[in-house]
Amino acid sequence: MQVLKLGGSVITVKDQPMTADDDNIRRLCEEVKAAWPTPLVIVHGGGSFGHPVAKKYGIAEGFTSERQVLGFTRTHQAMVALNTIIVDTLLDLGVPTISLSPSTFIMTRDGRIEDINLEIVGRLAVKGILPVTYGDAVVDRTKGFSILSGDQLAVRLATGLGASRLLFGVDVDGVYTSNPKLVPEARVIESLPLDKLDGYIKIGEALTTDVTGGMLGKVSEAKTAVNAGIEVFIGNASKAGVILKALRGEAVKGTILKR
Ligand code: ADP
Repeated sequence: MQVLKLGGSVITVKDQPMTADDDNIRRLCEEVKAAWPTPLVIVHGGGSFGHPVAKKYGIAEGFTSERQVLGFTRTHQAMVALNTIIVDTLLDLGVPTISLSPSTFIMTRDGRIEDINLEIVGRLAVKGILPVTYGDAVVDRTKGFSILSGDQLAVRLATGLGASRLLFGVDVDGVYTSNPKLVPEARVIESLPLDKLDGYIKIGEALTTDVTGGMLGKVSEAKTAVNAGIEVFIGNASKAGVILKALRGEAVKGTILKR
């Protein structure tokens, strides 16, 4: 079993609201098809679909006013729209794909997953069906509602389903010594031991509207998977062939997180 997280920075145009990156989506779906059949679960981020709406209504902060209720539903629906594009593309390519909406099988407490029906996801995947789920606005037991990041969800699915590998596809070549979009001389760290995380490198947030944390959030979440013995890879899904090779277990440029 493998879990593939496709970053919002790859599948959407991050600075244009509700704009999918159709070329990247098509190519990535073709790469998934080329690696098919393989027990796989895909999780995708929100990019310019979920994040701007969630931010506008303060959904990640939980329920504080009635005006957020419409924002909660709008955030979810923006994610449904993006998810539909991906699922339809995979179906067009003949990959048996099913959309799974986190708000219907997951609840959080203080923003962390508390209940999740892993059995549904696992049984679909072993039957040769590809579940495609996403970061979503979900019901939260203490805050009323919250934003569940695709990164947290991908890690929870990988640990809960006993995945051997968790792949994060982002718009940069892996984890760098500093944010490569701000520091041109930053270098990719090919093998990153968890104990080097604090102080050794400068991992930061994304530059665009992102309510769930950029590379820092991703690596922090991924620690749990690494500690569970899962191979965690972060690589550039904007570049052709990287995800295909990673899915096939072939060597490719990127970062492998180590215990
Ligand atoms: P996604 O939305 O694709 O899941 P994010 O955009 O949230 O991913 O996070 C990736 C971004 O994190 C990169 O585009 C980069 O701007 C930023 N970042 C900050 N620090 C680092 C770092 N040390 N190495 C790589 N990327 C970094």
